[in-house]
Amino acid sequence: MGHKNVCLNCKIAFNMIATEVRDATCPHCGKVMTYMSYNFRPPRKSDNTKWETVRYLVAHGFIYNHIYEPIPDNPNGATRTAIYPETLREAKEFVEKHKKIGERYLEYQRQL
Ligand SMILES: [Zn+2]
Repeated sequence: MGHKNVCLNCKIAFNMIATEVRDATCPHCGKVMTYMSYNFRPPRKSDNTKWETVRYLVAHGFIYNHIYEPIPDNPNGATRTAIYPETLREAKEFVEKHKKIGERYLEYQRQL
């Protein structure tokens, strides 16, 4: 499955094929792009609020991989795919709720 390289500075996403390298630089500004899951749907370029949310999530280790969370009030331990937040306020709750996963991702990303 492919992934996306995203320039958080220029707010653009590039679809990549699996063999293309990480740490690619943005053709527009030359900054190192962020390696993100193919699940990531880039907001419109003008939507600064959503991009702010994306930056916040990335800074906390969330690159839009699937995350599973328990379904509330479900005694069978069933899980569902967590929905990524679109506002900073929701993102703060999300990061708090999935803190351990975020920390694990950050650790993993440092080792690459
Ligand atoms: Zn750029």
